[in-house]
Amino acid sequence: MRVTIWNEYLHEQSDANVARVYPQGIHQALAALVQGAYPQAQVTTATLEDPEHGLPDAVLAATDVMLWWGHLAHERVADEVVDKVQARVLQGMGLIVLHSAHLSKIFRRLMGTTCNLRWREADERELIWTVNPAHPIAAGAPQPLVLEQHEMYGELFDIPAPDELVFISAFPGGEVFRSGCCFYRGKGRVFYFSPGHETYPVFYQADIAKVIGNAVGWVYQPVVSDIVTDTSPNAPLGWFEGSDQ
Ligand code: ZN
Repeated sequence: MRVTIWNEYLHEQSDANVARVYPQGIHQALAALVQGAYPQAQVTTATLEDPEHGLPDAVLAATDVMLWWGHLAHERVADEVVDKVQARVLQGMGLIVLHSAHLSKIFRRLMGTTCNLRWREADERELIWTVNPAHPIAAGAPQPLVLEQHEMYGELFDIPAPDELVFISAFPGGEVFRSGCCFYRGKGRVFYFSPGHETYPVFYQADIAKVIGNAVGWVYQPVVSDIVTDTSPNAPLGWFEGSDQ
């Protein structure tokens, strides 16, 4: 399994509070998390400032699962890179979209809606409840999974109805949020997971690592369907000729 972790990597270089939490960048924390869950996986990282944002064709072609974290600079991601990432998802690449990447170009492209939500930064406790215990992404998640301090994300979250909903979150202000959502797009699988605000060490938390590891396993497809879309006019197949139907 080949995993590419994409991180905008701006907060960590400009904000001392974030650098204290993620001194090597959020991408390195996520890389350690994924490598810990899958010691055999090939894990690489890419950031906004890299040429082609670190996602040239060769990297995209060699990626089975991509994680995406962004916040400040969604609009600086080149549309042609977004086009190529979308195409890879439609071909079967798995994509995990984390926290403020709900407003990333790639997520909005894949959803087709604004993906706006309510939010508040107030060091509040978040309770993440599993609503689909049979789902592989929920395996081993405590009930509830608690983030002692996190940013509030609340409904309405303007996304299409998820194909599978795994988690909902509750906050002290009374808000609720669909915090773990699965989508199928083409041959690919997409998981949105809301934890991961840059000033809180949530990506070091063992139960969060467990869920993200599960999500990597769920979006990863070792064998992608070889069904292709035929856009030319189709002759009748004749399957019913000679039958009594
Ligand atoms: Zn945030």
